[in-house]
Amino acid sequence: MFKSPTDDIIKPMDTRFTGDESNWARLEAELDAWLSGGRIASFWWRDDDAVAPGPKLDQLIETTKSTGLLLAVIPKRLQSTLVSSLSQAAHVHVAQHGYAHINHAPRGQGLGAWELGLHRGIDAVIADLDVGHTCLEKHFQSQFLPVVVPPWNRIAPELMQAIAARGYIGVSAFGPRSTVSPAPGLMITNAHCDPIKWKPKPHFRGSGKVIAQLVEHLEARRNGTVDADEATGFLTHHIDLDAAAWEFCARLVTLINHHDAAQWRSPEDLFAA
Ligand SMILES: [Zn+2]
Repeated sequence: MFKSPTDDIIKPMDTRFTGDESNWARLEAELDAWLSGGRIASFWWRDDDAVAPGPKLDQLIETTKSTGLLLAVIPKRLQSTLVSSLSQAAHVHVAQHGYAHINHAPRGQGLGAWELGLHRGIDAVIADLDVGHTCLEKHFQSQFLPVVVPPWNRIAPELMQAIAARGYIGVSAFGPRSTVSPAPGLMITNAHCDPIKWKPKPHFRGSGKVIAQLVEHLEARRNGTVDADEATGFLTHHIDLDAAAWEFCARLVTLINHHDAAQWRSPEDLFAA
């Protein structure tokens, strides 16, 4: 088809692009505020529901090379091929994503899904965690960090003492932590931003909403309304990331890597503190 010489010049204004840029500018402005205050905004990255290797896991490993990654693996569903695919990725640490990612809470009561609740008794929960712990430690050895990532980000506070007594060093759920250490030797570091909207089916929330989550936590840290020392956690589920979400991830990595007041922290560093 004949191409008009103006095709490349006159284009309707792409408002999505404009909006996207203003969202990124909002995050940069917040980081600039950290810079003016002489402070460093720490970030970290967690990814949930890993069980097997695949192209999306490869993309995640590649994308997080400069950030560090805590990969929450479901012990009961672990495929042994995941072990070899992570063995060359020294920046990836494995955490324990519950045991089987099964809901044990009664349905229809508005409780949400719980694997690590008290609905089946604490002994049954701890027995499951023990089996999962042994499995992940055996397979991933020093790449395994004894950190519990509760499925659906829900864990009964009554479990904390028992978890600490079993040698776990951390728990990671979602939202600003209300306490740093709920039991001796156990540290909480949560995630605060989830780029996926889950219903009706998983898709990228859009840069405006995702950046709003990040900025909300950063502002609250800066203003002292939440624990300023808790690194802002970016939580992905690599299986459910679409192209727009991957694009967002790549740009977030670049922005944080290049801003003087921003820094990624490795999970090893975070939970060993
Ligand atoms: Zn999960």
